[in-house]
Amino acid sequence: MRYAVLSDIHGNLEALRAVLADCAGQVDGVLCLGDLVGYGADPAACVELVAERAELLVAGNHEYGVTGQLALEWFNPLARAAAEWTAGTLADDQRSWLAGLPLTARLGEATLVHASPRHPDAWEYVLTAAEGFAAFTAFDTALAFVGHSHLPGYWSVGAGRSARRVGAVDLALDRAHRYIVNVGSVGQPRDRDPRASYAIWDRAAGRVAIRRVPYDLAEARRKIVAAGLPRFLADRLQRGA
Ligand code: ZN
Repeated sequence: MRYAVLSDIHGNLEALRAVLADCAGQVDGVLCLGDLVGYGADPAACVELVAERAELLVAGNHEYGVTGQLALEWFNPLARAAAEWTAGTLADDQRSWLAGLPLTARLGEATLVHASPRHPDAWEYVLTAAEGFAAFTAFDTALAFVGHSHLPGYWSVGAGRSARRVGAVDLALDRAHRYIVNVGSVGQPRDRDPRASYAIWDRAAGRVAIRRVPYDLAEARRKIVAAGLPRFLADRLQRGA
């Protein structure tokens, strides 16, 4: 089985469609690590498309924000403005569906979680080498897929060696090692590469590859401005940061 692992779509329908088109025919299923909404102009359409396509998904902090499970004061002013706009845009049944998403999920040898596996509802970032290595005690599978930082990369431990790599990777999984893989962000990349980021996980082959996909960025930016969302949210898509 091969899976597309998507995270941090953030209401960017153009990026989501491009990623689903890119993985069509390459994968048997879609997994999602949360933050379907927030920042982008098409939260409702993204929720519908992910609900239809993803066979397993977990909640992100933006799901918690728009469903009242996380106080909006927790967010920075831009994210809060987007969360308030998004909450008003979603239908009641979409909000209640988002409110029912779990914090973690498991598929075979992989754990899915939006932020750090250490305290999934504390929304901690896994950024440094130390933060990644410390998180391995918090899950018992060989592999964990995470999002939240919008920065693709991985951490691995095992056989007396540990490693960390930042950026797009094509990883051959070693059975003597465990891995945390950040799949990057579909809808708001922050590693200075504006292309959408996601991972293809080939379970049988034991491979995880990050893919980058160009999409109609101008249209996504135009819609953000037209919706009256902060212009910064449109401009950062072009910077990829
Ligand atoms: Zn996010």
